[in-house]
Amino acid sequence: MEYLSGSKQNKGFYKCKNCGTFVELKEYNTLPPCPTCGFNKFDNK
Ligand SMILES: [Zn+2]
Repeated sequence: MEYLSGSKQNKGFYKCKNCGTFVELKEYNTLPPCPTCGFNKFDNK
């Protein structure tokens, strides 16, 4: 499954599809762009 930054997602870890950096959401919130490369697509861990 694919997750886009700017969309609301449940808490958990999301892995950047471009560079592999993990982003953690600590609560239901807007998924930010990747902090490392700015990419906008993520996989769930
Ligand atoms: Zn990235």
